[in-house]
Amino acid sequence: MTHLDCSCEARGEYADRTESRGVYLTFDDGPNPLCTPNVLDVLAEHRVPATFFVIGAYAADQPKLIRRMVAEGHEVANHTMTHPDLSRCELAEVQQEILTASRVIRMACPQASPRHMRAPYGMWTEEVLATSARAGLAALHWSVDPRDWSRPGVDTIVNAVMASIRPGAIVLLHDGCPPSELGRGTHAGLRDQTVLALSNLIPALHVRGFSIRSLPQPHQTGTL
Ligand SMILES: [Zn+2]
Repeated sequence: MTHLDCSCEARGEYADRTESRGVYLTFDDGPNPLCTPNVLDVLAEHRVPATFFVIGAYAADQPKLIRRMVAEGHEVANHTMTHPDLSRCELAEVQQEILTASRVIRMACPQASPRHMRAPYGMWTEEVLATSARAGLAALHWSVDPRDWSRPGVDTIVNAVMASIRPGAIVLLHDGCPPSELGRGTHAGLRDQTVLALSNLIPALHVRGFSIRSLPQPHQTGTL
């Protein structure tokens, strides 16, 4: 099943029936020892929460960053163990990728308790959705994608978000890169545009009356 057939089944934004104009910042593909601390510093400076969809293999290597995320009020969520295209994986591999990542996150920080899952590349399939649900993970897509990973320029990232943001929006950003791209992405400047964009974006969202929030917690639908 293709991404387009299925992504509608993973939540892409929240209905916002209030006047509060809540929006949600999410960061994928970390934790990265060079980039994630800078992202956390900007979030702390502005006192706003975010959700980090971490890669389990990285979480195992960087448990201190997982603990820092939790200690500073952020949610740590599941982005699989090794970031494969799950639509090309057998069911057993899908299950292992998702369940092992949750286990590794909890080993890094018992208080982390992942509640959300995002499929790498947004490749949702029935198996991915079913496995996530059984593991008590709510499937979460996104609604605003400024393609920060492509390093299009700080202003381009900020403008892309501000052009399409609306109440309930889920913004996709990146504090690392997948293992498959690590060879060309280990330098310290990997996410410098994202970090700078974030420091401009947060005040811009506040000026427009948006409130940056933690994700609403889903009802637990399964156990691990
Ligand atoms: Zn990813």
